[in-house]
Amino acid sequence: MEVPAERRIFGLETEFGLHLDAPNARAVTPEEVAGHLFHSVVKWGRSSNVFLPNASRLYIDVGAHPEYATAECDSLTDLIASDKAGERIVHDLVAEGESRLADAGVEGTIHLYKNNTDSAGNSYGCHENYLVRRRADFRAFASALLPFLVTRQIVTGAGSITRTSGGAAYSFSPRADHMWEGMSSATTRSRPMINTRDEPHANAELYRRMHVIVGDSSMSETTTLLKMGATDLLLRLMEAHVALPDLTLANEMQAIRDVAHDMTGAATVELVDGRRLTAVQIQQEYLDAVRSHVGTAIVETDEVARILDLWERGIRAVREQNPGLVDTEIDWAIKLRLLERYRDRLACAWDDPRLARLELAYHDISPSTGLFTRLVRDGLAATVVDDARIEHAKTVAPSTTRAHLRGQFVTAALAAGQDFTVDWVHLKIAGGARSTVLLKDPFRNADGRVDVLLEALHTASAPVE
Ligand code: ATP
Ligand code: MG
Ligand code: MG
Repeated sequence: MEVPAERRIFGLETEFGLHLDAPNARAVTPEEVAGHLFHSVVKWGRSSNVFLPNASRLYIDVGAHPEYATAECDSLTDLIASDKAGERIVHDLVAEGESRLADAGVEGTIHLYKNNTDSAGNSYGCHENYLVRRRADFRAFASALLPFLVTRQIVTGAGSITRTSGGAAYSFSPRADHMWEGMSSATTRSRPMINTRDEPHANAELYRRMHVIVGDSSMSETTTLLKMGATDLLLRLMEAHVALPDLTLANEMQAIRDVAHDMTGAATVELVDGRRLTAVQIQQEYLDAVRSHVGTAIVETDEVARILDLWERGIRAVREQNPGLVDTEIDWAIKLRLLERYRDRLACAWDDPRLARLELAYHDISPSTGLFTRLVRDGLAATVVDDARIEHAKTVAPSTTRAHLRGQFVTAALAAGQDFTVDWVHLKIAGGARSTVLLKDPFRNADGRVDVLLEALHTASAPVE
């Protein structure tokens, strides 16, 4: 029998919405804005696709969306710190981007949104990565997660004002309407919930990377904790060969849309066995399964208790139609509270543009204009890590995984002014022979070969007498 992994590698990728507000300027393409935004990155990294001293990856994705992918973390707290640090890192590019645009004759402000759809109807993602052991039945293993992922939005969704045939309304998830199939190895054409491309960024004989691309980006740290934490707990049960309730859905695509648009939680979805259950019932079944294995397949910790408590209250919030149970912790409920207050004051409909602007402001990552930061400051949005830890994570890699090695390497190479190339599994000093190190084990944070590289870089950067 396979040994359940004691540790897991987690990673989060976030694509940001980029918007230039320049009402009186000439037309500017998103690519031009992105180019100016990334100018300083290209200057030091010689590319708009770089690995940072904190071991994360920063790049421009298709469609001129800046993307930040956290370094490999083996704890949810490290992951949340690195993810939040990413917002600050990306925001730090704005001032220079705006000043370069001004030099190019465009006076305006750049906004970066951690959301999943823009006004033109484009959708962009938030990818969750979970390391799992390689197994012959990976497809079946992954597809067992689908009913969970389809219904998870009622407790982890970002919330969204969405237009439907019946007018605009609030729904659980902005991403749900953009999903087209359950699993596939292609991300762009088919928009699957789980991307099955076999790219473990690790020893491929041992590992697979579970690449979940159906989730919403989370502003709230506690929402990230629940989103990644609950998914991890289910994976742990599956790895321990605990039989999960069979909740296979008859039509995942229909179900994810139906669940998103039913804030009452009363709509049912059809299972292949002919039953009809609500998203609340399905989530409750998963929560019960996890709960009953705490102490056996799942080691009990304070963090596990916190995840289970929030999961439970999230389900109850929908069942009892009482968002107040989670309205400082779950994005859809935090945002709904904000929007409803404003809507009452304005006595307007959901399609009022002023509500759309407020919704955007919620996702604005700027510490000055973004609403979420203000909510945290005012004690209206709960956190998982403190500010100092996020600041630290901007420049220092997680210390307990391979990221530690990459972080040291990038930091030393930059200090030495040496050309280098890096990806998730390679570190290389440009030019030199025997200068490439392959790091196939993402759990290892120490390696003699890297010490040799670091030594070479330190020697190179030592001031000449
Ligand atoms: P795409 O941009 O098409 O989604 P990708 O998923 O390979 O490609 P990256 O943006 O490079 O994208 O992000 C990879 C993510 O996987 C990072 O967050 C990283 O921390 C994480 N990761 C790296 N190695 C592993 C691993 N062995 N297991 C799980 N996650 C990993
Ligand atoms: Mg990516
Ligand atoms: Mg990805």
